[in-house]
Amino acid sequence: MLVYGFAQGNKDMRDLLGGKGANLAEMTNLGLPVPPGFTITTEACRTYLDTGQVPAELHDEVTKHLALVETARGKRLGDPGDPLLVSVRSGAKFSMPGMMDTVLNIGLTDRSVRGLAEQAGDERFAWDSYRRLLQMFGKTVQGIDGAHFDDALDALKRDRGAPHDVDLDAGALRELVTTYKQIVRAESGRDFPQDPREQLDAAIRAVFDSWNAPRAITYRRQERISADLGTAVNVVAMVFGNAGPDSGTGVAFTRDPASGARGVYGDYLANAQGEDVVAGIRNTVPLTELAHLDKKSYDELLDIMATLEGHYRDLCDIEFTIERGRLWMLQTRVGKRTAAAAFRIATQLVDEGLITEDEALSRVDGHQLAQLMFPRFDERAARQAIAHGMNASPGAAVGRAVFDTATAVEWNSTGEDVILVRRETTPDDLDGMIAARGILTSRGGRTSHAAVVARGMGKTCVCGVETLDIDVARGRFTAPGGVEVSEGDVISIDGTTGDVFLGEVPVVDSPVVRYFEGELDPGAAQAEELVRSVHRLMKVADGRRRLGVRANADLPDDAARARAMGAAGIGLCRTEHMFLGERRRYVEALVLAEDDAERTAALEALLPLQRADFEGLLAAMDGLPVTVRLLDPPLHEFLPDLTDLSVRVALAGERGVRDPQDERLLRAVRRLHEQNPMMGLRGVRLGLVVPGLYALQVRAVAEAAAARERAGGHPRVEVMIPLVGTVQELELSREEAERTIADVRERTGFTGPIPVGTMVELPRAALTAGAIARAADFFSFGTNDLTQTTWGFSRDDVEAAFFAAYLERGVFGVSPFESLDVAGVGRLVDLAVREGRAARPDLKLGVCGEHGGDPDSVHFFHEAGLDYVSCSAFRVPVARLEAGRAAVLADADAGSASR
Ligand code: ADP
Ligand code: MG
Ligand code: MG
Repeated sequence: MLVYGFAQGNKDMRDLLGGKGANLAEMTNLGLPVPPGFTITTEACRTYLDTGQVPAELHDEVTKHLALVETARGKRLGDPGDPLLVSVRSGAKFSMPGMMDTVLNIGLTDRSVRGLAEQAGDERFAWDSYRRLLQMFGKTVQGIDGAHFDDALDALKRDRGAPHDVDLDAGALRELVTTYKQIVRAESGRDFPQDPREQLDAAIRAVFDSWNAPRAITYRRQERISADLGTAVNVVAMVFGNAGPDSGTGVAFTRDPASGARGVYGDYLANAQGEDVVAGIRNTVPLTELAHLDKKSYDELLDIMATLEGHYRDLCDIEFTIERGRLWMLQTRVGKRTAAAAFRIATQLVDEGLITEDEALSRVDGHQLAQLMFPRFDERAARQAIAHGMNASPGAAVGRAVFDTATAVEWNSTGEDVILVRRETTPDDLDGMIAARGILTSRGGRTSHAAVVARGMGKTCVCGVETLDIDVARGRFTAPGGVEVSEGDVISIDGTTGDVFLGEVPVVDSPVVRYFEGELDPGAAQAEELVRSVHRLMKVADGRRRLGVRANADLPDDAARARAMGAAGIGLCRTEHMFLGERRRYVEALVLAEDDAERTAALEALLPLQRADFEGLLAAMDGLPVTVRLLDPPLHEFLPDLTDLSVRVALAGERGVRDPQDERLLRAVRRLHEQNPMMGLRGVRLGLVVPGLYALQVRAVAEAAAARERAGGHPRVEVMIPLVGTVQELELSREEAERTIADVRERTGFTGPIPVGTMVELPRAALTAGAIARAADFFSFGTNDLTQTTWGFSRDDVEAAFFAAYLERGVFGVSPFESLDVAGVGRLVDLAVREGRAARPDLKLGVCGEHGGDPDSVHFFHEAGLDYVSCSAFRVPVARLEAGRAAVLADADAGSASR
């Protein structure tokens, strides 16, 4: 069956009938006044697209259904005396701009236009309908540039002194029809088809073809809609809003899509057809005006809106037409809405008894919550941007431009807001990024270091602003048009749009974040409805979720913030920062040590510093687990840059003031220099070849736990060994760790458990998870590295080089660093979960990559059966919400499967 009459479908048949067709069917079966019509299925479209031929049965099925419509309306398609006219409307499963525009009034010909005029007793109406058909058919079916038609209409209006199209009389419109027919002949090389069925079939084919129109393809790619769904085609008996002043057409929402408030929202335009109401050809009136124009239709419309809301149990948007005082419904669907409205509407519907709390949770998502959490520029302060780049990490930031980390940190410490401006960022800029309100770079895209780190910190970032010429050494940049910005000048960046502004644009804080941070009481009488809604749905999510949510945090302040945001521990504490800044000299000493004594001295200098770091962290997370990852990056990242140092040594040599320490350091840097650091001496490999390094860290961790316990705290620390590829690596490093822990226990009397586990971030670790699990108390999937190592590319290198091209050509729908590559990386995760748990049923499983806070990935982790996800503090609420949604959706699926 390739064609369904409206009475044969329903709203759950969107796959086959498209959204528009399914909802027209649903309204028909609700007894609402829908003009008769039918839907040609997406399957017919797929066959046509595959074979290049309209399926053989289609013609007869269309004939059969057309006959039913003809009977219902008491008219025949294109009958010269009294024609039935129809519209042909595209309608895919997901609403999709870029596909064919609707063609109205199909069935009008040189002869039937006269029959229509006679039947309606209205010449003007008939010619107006015909000229619209010529225009729409010419443009969308015959592919003629619409400007030809628009120009002719404008010329005629000028000629007749008619301000609006309604001011043109029958004679003028008839003339316009002649002009339009000439345009069609001139532009397409043939006459407008005078056979109504030929018009219909051509329009149907054009809708099929429009599935592959370039704009449709681009849109699908961006929205990640599958390319092989195809579109349905709806053929609907025409009703006429252009039949005089007692007719008209309009759009309506069952509640305000911006705020969620209940009421009557919409626009109405008298004596108009189809798109006139949204095209702005004349001024529409607010829908409430319809109460004065046509009380009966207005009341009926309000009744229908109530029926639809009750039936769909959600905000609906509606298209309707009134033909000579009679109301017709032409479309409805669950309406789009802003993120804030989504939360408000979902909770309103619960209060109204229309949906359950679980359903309310499924009506909002983490992307929307994330949007609500970013500060934004006050919309009332419109400004002209000086440059535009990639909206890498949303939010709004204002501050003085600084060009290096030291200045960022220094100015920030005096209370100055700064924006860190760099060509690109590196791990060395981390402190500067932490100190800055926002980050602006001229290179790199959404997965560049700046973008990824900024997103992780929930910090505004605009990156890849290639039109900026940044001179870091001089501390200034120039924007197009010669705009110069020097260190200290105030700039504003909008990470949601990618805009860069000169000067200060006022920023408003997100009330949702103030709520999460405990500054706003959702129960207070004056609390905003939005905050109350978010609070309520978060409670539902927390009650339902099975995934724990931890945070990635390295510093006590971050940990405290994460905790306020609802984190149940730290899933990843990176220890790199404990070797930066002042402490670099100890790393240098460690690398340069020529004997055990020197090495021990360097390590011992680091011990109290690290212990204090861990104590702070354990205090902030008292009672909750804290997973400490031992040092991961290659040592040379902590040493001076090879080129800088070479130059320094060479210059010193020329001047005859050689520094033996520098020269030794240079030799060491050369020795440690790697072609491919990502695959070099890092992670557990460092632990195994740099004597004492991991032992130092484990000792600092264990002693910190002991100290916390002595101080009355409840430390729960876990040691995590990074980059393990084989169980032997884990066994060796674990043995050393256990020895150190035992020693600390003996000296301090500390008895609490200190589990030792590993990160799974190499394919080999996942593939041998069964063996590795026997030496691990827990696995934490490091999905950032696991993605890099599975794909064989390094994030920092590939993003700028070719991700844009890959995304554009559809190799990825989305960067695998943003949303977990389920088919590849996900398979490794699944395998490791299964084999790991089989070897060790009590194995604790988590994930600590960026993906832990990505809404789509959270659903995968839920299904994979992990115990927790860990993400940046800012993303914790998003992960909590999505974990709740994942549980609710999985239960709903299981429920419908067993029914
Ligand atoms: P879109 O998908 O862009 O909303 P539609 O198929 O809904 O396109 O049609 C465009 C316009 O034509 C809408 O205003 C719709 O209400 C109107 N329209 C479509 N079919 C008919 C019809 N049979 N009678 C009157 N107006 C119609
Ligand atoms: Mg529509
Ligand atoms: Mg890693």
